[in-house]
Amino acid sequence: MPIRTADDYLASLRNRKLKVYLFGELVTEPVDHPVIRPSINAVAETYRLAEEDPQLAGAQSSLSGERVNRFLHVTESVNDVVMQNRMQRRLGQRTGTCFQRCVGMDAINSLYSVTFDIDQAHGTAYHGRFKEFVKHMQRENFVIGGAMTDAKGDRSKAPHEQVDPDMFVRVVERRDDGVVIRGAKAHQTGCINSHWLLVMPTMRLVAEDKDYAISVAVPVDHPGITYIYGRANSVSRALEGGVIDQGNAQFGGQEALIVFDDVFVPRSHIFMNGETEFAAPLVERFTAYHRRSYVCKTGLGDVIIGAAATIADYNGASKASHVRDKLVEMAHLNETIYGAGIAASHESQPTSAGNYQCDDMLANVCKHNVTRFPYELARLAQDLAGGLMVTLPSDKEFDSPVTGPILRKYLKGNPKVSVDNRRRVLRLIENMTLGRNAVGYLTESMHGAGSPQAQRIQIQRLMKLDEKKALAKKLAGVDESENEP
Ligand SMILES: Cc1cc2nc3c(=O)[nH]c(=O)nc-3n(C[C@H](O)[C@H](O)[C@H](O)COP(=O)(O)OP(=O)(O)OC[C@H]3O[C@@H](n4cnc5c(N)ncnc54)[C@H](O)[C@@H]3O)c2cc1C
Ligand code: SF4
Repeated sequence: MPIRTADDYLASLRNRKLKVYLFGELVTEPVDHPVIRPSINAVAETYRLAEEDPQLAGAQSSLSGERVNRFLHVTESVNDVVMQNRMQRRLGQRTGTCFQRCVGMDAINSLYSVTFDIDQAHGTAYHGRFKEFVKHMQRENFVIGGAMTDAKGDRSKAPHEQVDPDMFVRVVERRDDGVVIRGAKAHQTGCINSHWLLVMPTMRLVAEDKDYAISVAVPVDHPGITYIYGRANSVSRALEGGVIDQGNAQFGGQEALIVFDDVFVPRSHIFMNGETEFAAPLVERFTAYHRRSYVCKTGLGDVIIGAAATIADYNGASKASHVRDKLVEMAHLNETIYGAGIAASHESQPTSAGNYQCDDMLANVCKHNVTRFPYELARLAQDLAGGLMVTLPSDKEFDSPVTGPILRKYLKGNPKVSVDNRRRVLRLIENMTLGRNAVGYLTESMHGAGSPQAQRIQIQRLMKLDEKKALAKKLAGVDESENEP
């Protein structure tokens, strides 16, 4: 039965016997693990939104001829690309964290055009296979994880130059019926909460990197895969039993190291195999798509602005002019991110394969803003929160008959507001700026879809400096013939 509801999704993750390691132990059932469950809840929200608002989170697919979840839709118009951003902002508002499903959405949209282009150049049959794969995903309404980033070893060396050849995922055996891959993908968002993984190369490759030019789909429950869970800050609060201390007990993100230990992939799920010259276009199209997907962070920004405004109310400071001005500054930064991202989507152009690709320059500007502005939003939220955000005693002190009444007397701000409500908001700000969801709001904003320098390189490539110089020279009346030859 295809997955339709959030409950169907939760059921689909059970009994998969994945090899997931966390805190030194093999996790028996990730769905029931208190540290992992909030990340599953965040993905479940993508299904819940599709039920509640099918226009926003669903789309009509010409591929399968069915209405599908927007995260599985191959874009057919500029509006389809724009709608992805609107959906992402809404989900950021609902979860306050990374809801994980966009990496797969951006991977299918970039592989769709790249497989087409490889076939045109080499007479291969990747595009048709890829379409069959996407149709299958759409019909089952699966979650796809996008696995691009390799372990990478020595950053100054190409894949084939590494001391250990497994530092980038590679083909170790080519057979008539498929390939065997080995290696690891690092920092993989939502991988354990997915049903399938789309493996892609992580960087521009040269001819000697042939074995690294591999793109495949692999089921998450393949027995040759091991997942080693990333331990985010403060996740162990989920093991303490308290709710308020967690800040956002319901939702969290997920990253893990995926280890492929000689995983066989049948021919039907191979979408690139040795065509090194197409690694760079794939990385560029994927990152352009994914960098404007980072408007997701404006949904989180809406939450942090709301939390900052609420704590100012609860502290009795909301009427001060500097407080209002700081909230305006936060809104300005947040909308600046959104402006560039949604503009990148509005400027989409059709690819040779027929789907739509966002504007590369504006997507990179969006992501570059994301590497900075959430940190400033976090700083302003911490400013308005006050020091109590980090000196607040634990849930257990509030529950204690000895210390609880003392804390409820002295930690009162605005007399009309309960102390528990005040600490709920303080803990949420802590959660998003220092705690488990600071991964999704801050460090993922920095490095996800590429570290800041990756965007600067792309902006430099795209900025058409000679054209700009010509504009300036024309207006200034520059006469080049006066210059020394
Ligand atoms: C929370 C989170 C979620 C993520 N989710 C995913 C995901 O779902 N799928 C996925 O594929 N990836 C994912 N990533 C990976 C992300 O794309 C990478 O973190 C990013 O590309 C940076 O790579 P790195 O972490 O290996 O850092 P590094 O490459 O080690 O970079 C560290 C610093 O070194 C610099 N540097 C690196 N190499 C060079 C070089 N050759 N020359 C000069 N300077 C260099 C960088 O600019 C940076 O300043 C995620 C990352 C995070 C943090
Ligand atoms: S960081 Fe944002 S765009 Fe990327 S998967 Fe998470 S929510 Fe989606």
